Amino acid sequence: MLEKARLVSGFLKYKYLKRGPFYASYNVTFRCNSRCTYCDYWKSEPPELGTADALKIVDRIAESGAPMMDFSGGEPLLRNDMVELAKRAKEDGMLATMNTSGLIRKEAVIKELSRYLDTVTISLDGLPDVHDEQRGIKGAFVRSVGTMKLYKAAGLRVGINLVITRRNADTLQEFFDYIADSVDFITVQPVNPSVKFKFSDEAMRALISMKDKGKLPLDYKYIMGIRDYFDGNFTKVCEATKLYFAVDPMGQLTACPPRHDIKLGSLLEKGFWELLDEHGAEAMKEIDRCSGCYLACTVGWSYQMDSPLITSAYNGARTYLSH
Ligand code: SF4
Ligand code: SF4
Repeated sequence: MLEKARLVSGFLKYKYLKRGPFYASYNVTFRCNSRCTYCDYWKSEPPELGTADALKIVDRIAESGAPMMDFSGGEPLLRNDMVELAKRAKEDGMLATMNTSGLIRKEAVIKELSRYLDTVTISLDGLPDVHDEQRGIKGAFVRSVGTMKLYKAAGLRVGINLVITRRNADTLQEFFDYIADSVDFITVQPVNPSVKFKFSDEAMRALISMKDKGKLPLDYKYIMGIRDYFDGNFTKVCEATKLYFAVDPMGQLTACPPRHDIKLGSLLEKGFWELLDEHGAEAMKEIDRCSGCYLACTVGWSYQMDSPLITSAYNGARTYLSH
């Protein structure tokens, strides 16, 4: 109940007063057991905080006022304390979500997580051959879909996130036909950084059909902009440190989920607002120099918040609530 009240007030505060942050992404680890063709995280094993410090980071995120946080990675379930971290987020009154590949399947952990998380998002990039190729693991699709069903059976809201690439763009409809009825929602985002290719009318229609069915909690403006992004003509939209921020595995406050290199200092030492006061102006120079991104957790949220239809905007956030 507390998290719902926080979500509504956080949403209204940002929408009408531009006072945030609304959303935080905590990359609890950069270790990963996937081998995605478009990502380098799995090639190294950078250090991360132990449980006591990671719990402190969750508290710091809550103190920032953000009503919503996402546990991400790497693969968050490579840590053995995800249940504790999710529990703390819930105790702190936040709506808590987690992104996972679904390759790690521990039934007892899934059951425990279902008590504290509102939503789990499984990464699925298409039908088996496409997904396995893009994620670099043979048999990944079958395993991830099996895990997805366990989260669902445990009572969680379950969505999928699909990274659109040249490889999967033309089979989107086929994939959605297969998966849509098994999940509560689908989010998509074009691969980052950008690659140019012709995003077909058929692929556009596949996205719009999911939106029309109420499965895609992204604003139409964001969906329509995906084609422009792949054409190389997108406008930079950035609300880093205002609407959203991120935290890296060592507890460093960073500008946004994709720019871990823009650091504002350690959240173990100081709170969000103090770090923003001390280093915000400097970080803003880097943010201004950034050439842009087109991710669902950055631009997607900006468009959602800007939607003139308050119900459409709020429903985007509400998607992640469990009940
Ligand atoms: S699952 Fe995520 S973090 Fe892991 S390799 Fe793929 S894109 Fe990178
Ligand atoms: S434009 Fe750059 S700084 Fe802004 S959210 Fe995107 S990646 Fe981050």
